[in-house]
Amino acid sequence: MAIHPILEVPDPRLKTVSTRVEAFDDELRTLVADMFETMYDAPGIGLAAIQIGVPKRVLVIDLQHEGEDGEPVRTPRVFINPEILDPSNEHTLYNEGCLSVPDQYAEVERPSTIRARWQDLDGKVHEEAMDGLMATCLQHEMDHLEGVLFIDHLSRLKRQMVLKKLEKLRKAA
Ligand SMILES: [Zn+2]
Repeated sequence: MAIHPILEVPDPRLKTVSTRVEAFDDELRTLVADMFETMYDAPGIGLAAIQIGVPKRVLVIDLQHEGEDGEPVRTPRVFINPEILDPSNEHTLYNEGCLSVPDQYAEVERPSTIRARWQDLDGKVHEEAMDGLMATCLQHEMDHLEGVLFIDHLSRLKRQMVLKKLEKLRKAA
């Protein structure tokens, strides 16, 4: 396993539309293992393959809940070739961030509940109703597969503000 550098805005590769996974092989397993290691190291709760430069429809998510001893418990989930079905008309605002837009947060409105369909590492199809942070996170990660970032949901003015702040932070570092 290996930790990969995470692409950050304005890297043009983040605008790539990722392609479907056809081969459920060892290469895919290695990619997913590397994605988890990279995400936990960052740390973050979700990562799309394109964020480490691989244009494939692969996502990893771990919302980590707090265990009895107060320590975070890992609940790693893999989504391959994910699709969203039945997005609700009701929307929720969530203050989102992204490892590719470091230290910047903004409220984004998305459908509150969805059904998701995806494949696992063996190619088996799963379907599940999702709400709350899981629904938000999956929709955010799925945007990456279309080359869309959460800041693309903001007004042009707000997006420019975020990018300027990021530029300032980078200069100061
Ligand atoms: Zn993201």
